[in-house]
Amino acid sequence: MPATSMDSLVNLCKRRGFIFQSSDIYGGLQGVYDYGPLGVELKNNLKAAWWRAMVYERDDIEGLDAAILTHRSVLKHSGHEATFSDPMVDCRKCKSRWRADQIKDGKCEKCGSADLTEPRPFNLMFKTSVGPVADEDHFAYLRPETAQGIFCNFKNVLDSTSPKLPFGIAQIGKAFRNEITPKNFIFRVREFEQMELEFFVAPGTDDEWHAKWVEARVAWWRAQGLESGNLQQYPQKKEELAHYAKATVDILYRFPHGMEELEGVANRTDFDLGSHSKDPQELGLKAKVDENKDSVVKLTAPDPATQKPLVPFVIEPSAGVDRGVLAVLTEAYTEEKLENGTERIVLKLKPHLAPIKVAVIPLARNKPEIVEKARQVKDLLLKLGIGRIYYENSGNIGKSYRRHDEVGTPLCVTVDFDTIGKGEKPELADTVTIRDRDTMKQVRIRVAGLAGHIAGYFSAAR
Ligand code: ATP
Repeated sequence: MPATSMDSLVNLCKRRGFIFQSSDIYGGLQGVYDYGPLGVELKNNLKAAWWRAMVYERDDIEGLDAAILTHRSVLKHSGHEATFSDPMVDCRKCKSRWRADQIKDGKCEKCGSADLTEPRPFNLMFKTSVGPVADEDHFAYLRPETAQGIFCNFKNVLDSTSPKLPFGIAQIGKAFRNEITPKNFIFRVREFEQMELEFFVAPGTDDEWHAKWVEARVAWWRAQGLESGNLQQYPQKKEELAHYAKATVDILYRFPHGMEELEGVANRTDFDLGSHSKDPQELGLKAKVDENKDSVVKLTAPDPATQKPLVPFVIEPSAGVDRGVLAVLTEAYTEEKLENGTERIVLKLKPHLAPIKVAVIPLARNKPEIVEKARQVKDLLLKLGIGRIYYENSGNIGKSYRRHDEVGTPLCVTVDFDTIGKGEKPELADTVTIRDRDTMKQVRIRVAGLAGHIAGYFSAAR
């Protein structure tokens, strides 16, 4: 059970270059974060693990990368323009604004006043003008979810890859929501990334597929290092369901600020494909939609039993990348008391997620032979294609180990005087030391066998 506090995570993330407040030098943009040198690696590794599980390991899912700028009609048809809002209240005393459903005891979180306005809906979508004329007719939305790009490309993917039901389309990308109160670090932000799968099934098989995907997604999060005791499933109540969902199971994680949603697995029925196949006049879009020629396409696939066209149902596991990063950091963050009475911070990340896979440390940075050997070792390991191999040039072995423990580097390889045949033990020539992050144990191994050893370690750790 992680006893990690949000402060210790925020601190580590800034100190070691994982995550920074965006536009920090100008005072920060609220609810927006930037990923630093190690954060970008961790985030990319999490996304790659998801892509691998969804697209590479299966034969029934294709990938997609759709645009962020979204035509207004898409989000009108999808129901987002009318209903994608949160209830907002104002505090009459201090003028701050809050999400009504997150207010505790009916009081303003900032000043404690109970003098709040009635809740009113606040649409969370960001608008931006498109082209040189910025008026009511020339705008697009920044997508509030990646899903709509998948629905709009349903026919393109179907026509170009000819999949048979059931099949899925997977996408990872940015989404934007003008959250009323972004908070809890990267948990609730205004710009974030989603990993979304839309899995299309024949109607009638949807409940079964929904259950299967909930199970598969929990198993995947466990494989990213999250302990089952920190994960929970929460079937949403009828009144909590989004406008498109028949049923949704939230996968919750024990974040530092509480048990909260990490991923939602929704049964979106045929709502979206059905809406995008509707006559635009029904939605009051006549002039604009005719002009843009959308929505005349029927988004159907052949029924596997009869081959007649049907509008498939869709199961959607939708995970937040940023919440995923926060969850794996929470789980991995460990403060340990060592036998010699000192303490260390160690990020016990799963090796495939670690930003740096191996740090190569020359014991003396002013000895050209050691430096050259260490560089050769780095190049040798780089060829394995396992990710970032870091040449560590701090010149202080103790400090290097501490730093790599803190950023979760699973292995450190040290090149010393023995390696170059100038130590006390000539028999150790052409060997290096490998130190394990979690056990802190060191083993000596021949350079000739190093690549094989490290490749074996990373493939076994998956
Ligand atoms: P919440 O109830 O927490 O606002 P939601 O139910 O609106 O979330 P979904 O629309 O189901 O979220 O989005 C799918 C996933 O996208 C969420 O499970 C979450 O991981 C991520 N997500 C949604 N909103 C945000 C946000 N503002 N910041 C970071 N991640 C988000």
